[in-house]
Amino acid sequence: MIYLDNNATTQVHPEVREAMLPYLEGSYGNPSGGYRFGKESRDAVEAARERVAELAGAKAEEVVFTSCGTESNNSAFYSAMETYPERKHLVSTRAEHSAVVNLVEYLEAKHGYEVDWVPVDGEGLVDVEAIRRVVRPGETALVSIMWANNETGVLGPVEEAAGICEEAGVLFHTDAVQAVGKVPVSMRESGAHFLSVSGHKMHASKGVGALLVSERVRFQATLIGGGQEKGRRSGTENVAGIVGMGKAAELMGQALAAGIEERVRGMRDRFEAGVLEAVEGTAVNGDRERRLPNTSNLYFEGVDAEGLLILLDDAGVCCSPGSACSTGSFEPSRVIMAMGHDKERGRSSVRFSLSSFSTAGEVDEAVGLVTGAAGKLRVARPRGAGRVVGGKRG
Ligand code: PLP
Repeated sequence: MIYLDNNATTQVHPEVREAMLPYLEGSYGNPSGGYRFGKESRDAVEAARERVAELAGAKAEEVVFTSCGTESNNSAFYSAMETYPERKHLVSTRAEHSAVVNLVEYLEAKHGYEVDWVPVDGEGLVDVEAIRRVVRPGETALVSIMWANNETGVLGPVEEAAGICEEAGVLFHTDAVQAVGKVPVSMRESGAHFLSVSGHKMHASKGVGALLVSERVRFQATLIGGGQEKGRRSGTENVAGIVGMGKAAELMGQALAAGIEERVRGMRDRFEAGVLEAVEGTAVNGDRERRLPNTSNLYFEGVDAEGLLILLDDAGVCCSPGSACSTGSFEPSRVIMAMGHDKERGRSSVRFSLSSFSTAGEVDEAVGLVTGAAGKLRVARPRGAGRVVGGKRG
């Protein structure tokens, strides 16, 4: 298998697994326990908090462990809404992950929020001046702009947006789920008030995440109960998951310091150049400079992404359509459409995302397999003769 879907999820790093095991076996104490056995778990959670804080440029006290990136995003919104119940306006973009877009649409439909969707350009770059125009001091509850896009890898104008919000006295959240561990991220330096992280996107396990909450702002919990996480997120801690996330944060920090970005970018560029060269009618979606080093989102003109994915799956390559297929039918990618492209491009784009575990050999093999698969679909459809729609696997 050639795994090129690391923006969907990543393999658990072997050292992360090792770090987690004791907390799935002997050290199963409840961190809230008033005995030494509980303190073992509590200390491990606190050590992990330090590590996550260090990787993402925050203080340990600013880290609230959650169950996933989706929960972190929801928690930031609900905290802002409770902090400023009189503010009924939200700002985001349609290129955000569905964990933000669907939430904002829900808040608009069910809770009467007015929403401004800031446009992105053809390269996926967010219009910063539009943020300045729509932010309303005293009325906007939250502005949410992602650090890095999950489909294209394009980087958001986090610092600029945070600066605009700071001036206007408005809370600012950034979904940094795709960025943390791949590029340097600092909540402190960015000026963000809330920053979302997810464990399984950075070689920790599924079921753990964090919301970083700047000490400069108030935080209202969404999950109310036993008062864990200093009352900021009730529910008994996922100790093994948290420990794993701490270990992953440590490893990602070391890898970034050792230049992993360049290594991964080199492989991504080699893959991309190979496909662009070998397959006619291909183009990169998103700004080629301002994007994550691991992500390549490619448009295959006239080729149905679904068909390509089926052939690639058969050939042992894991990658993703930009489009959502939760209903069983592939919708054109919302992100590609938000960039002003048509439905055809939205249905003919595929995301390949590498990790530090990817190898040059795999990448070269993948170029050949992608070229072969696209060629097969193109043979079935001479250029200009309409779309090739991949059949469902029987
Ligand atoms: N935000 C972004 C940008 C993502 O890519 C994802 C996952 O794909 C999420 C949020 C959701 O994270 P989780 O799967 O941890 O809920």
